[in-house]
Amino acid sequence: SGHLREGEAAAAASSSSAAVGVGVEVEKEGKKENKVVVCARCHSLRHYGVVKRPEAEPLLPDFDFVAAVGPRLASPSGARSLVLLLADASDFDGSFPRAVARLVAAAGEAHGSDWKHGAPANLPRALLVVTKLDLLPTPSLSPDDVHAWAHSRARAGAGGDLRLAGVHLVSAARGWGVRDLLDHVRQLAGSRGNVWAVGARNVGKSTLLNAIARCSGIEGGPTLTEAPVPGTTLDVIQVDGVLGSQAKLFDTPGLLHGHQLTSRLTREEQKLVRVSKEMRPRTYRLKPGQSVHIGGLVRLDIEELTVGSVYVTVWASPLVPLHMGKTENAAAMVKDHFGLQLQPPIGQQRVNELGKWVRKQFKVSGNSWDVNSKDIAIAGLGWFGIGLKGEAVLGLWTYDGVDVVSRNSLV
Ligand code: GDP
Repeated sequence: SGHLREGEAAAAASSSSAAVGVGVEVEKEGKKENKVVVCARCHSLRHYGVVKRPEAEPLLPDFDFVAAVGPRLASPSGARSLVLLLADASDFDGSFPRAVARLVAAAGEAHGSDWKHGAPANLPRALLVVTKLDLLPTPSLSPDDVHAWAHSRARAGAGGDLRLAGVHLVSAARGWGVRDLLDHVRQLAGSRGNVWAVGARNVGKSTLLNAIARCSGIEGGPTLTEAPVPGTTLDVIQVDGVLGSQAKLFDTPGLLHGHQLTSRLTREEQKLVRVSKEMRPRTYRLKPGQSVHIGGLVRLDIEELTVGSVYVTVWASPLVPLHMGKTENAAAMVKDHFGLQLQPPIGQQRVNELGKWVRKQFKVSGNSWDVNSKDIAIAGLGWFGIGLKGEAVLGLWTYDGVDVVSRNSLV
């Protein structure tokens, strides 16, 4: 928040009778043309006189980092590019900017493996920045473990050989790790590098950049100017004074991840789902034929089990109610309780709007009840920690298109 583009979005949304569009310059087949991008809400207002699903639509179209910035990362002039890949600790897999990470990984792979003694100057480098660390139950976690875990999840997200120049665990809210990050960024950017901060919407990028600016001694917030990047005139913002010398720091618009549940929720529903305080576990001991619901958003079924029971720990916003019951009653739950007792969605008519309800199957094995064996993470919501001694077949139900992954457990 507190960034220019939010003000612009709000202005575009509020002045419905006057300006309803935002002019942007886009490059198409080598030719520049001016195009007016109209936000979905304004379009609705103008054409139908109503706002359908108020606030559920993004105000601005998604920012295509790969197309807009990709070609500039390998700068022939020798100015080093550094990409800050931001991921939210409370929704790592959902928020991780994997398309951009893939781009960085591919650039490295194209260069081969003969750069053990430092990356070639024109190869983009990347730092992984895990934000909102204060949301994790930090006293019970070892920073080294979280560090290694985040590194391996980033590699999985990039789907390739992602070489990171470092991993930083930060909390802008608490000021944890901000100084170290700033020092490292300055060192890697050198005297005239270009630094690009990239992350999903709401990952905490603005808050972090403001914290970095404060840390570098800038009073009253950093100076923001529109950056002269073709095709992104309105979108990319240069943050001045933070890096010193001639190095430049660019803030890019938050990426819209359709695979994050939050991206299809209304503002009111998002408030229930977003985690704002240190996460607390809610644990159930379940038998085959039993299920746990997280609001009307997700259901986990214990389908088969080689042992008596399994421990399922829910890590999600405390404002979302949980329900444990028999799997055979699950269909009735959708019909009678989704959108009512089980919120979000708020209101029964929103259930269909969220999409088709689909199942994904996971096989999990483990050898301890005390230590979780696997997480099943739902993008934009949270995760289930699974603890068992034996093997389980689990069914995970959610709306079609929401990413669900099984991963090594975090907690
Ligand atoms: P952006 O969309 O990536 O620029 O995200 P913002 O900086 O606007 O932050 C999104 C939300 O996350 C806001 O509600 C912030 O208050 C919150 N937030 C940002 N950083 C932190 C953090 O370090 N810890 C916690 N607990 N919340 C944070």
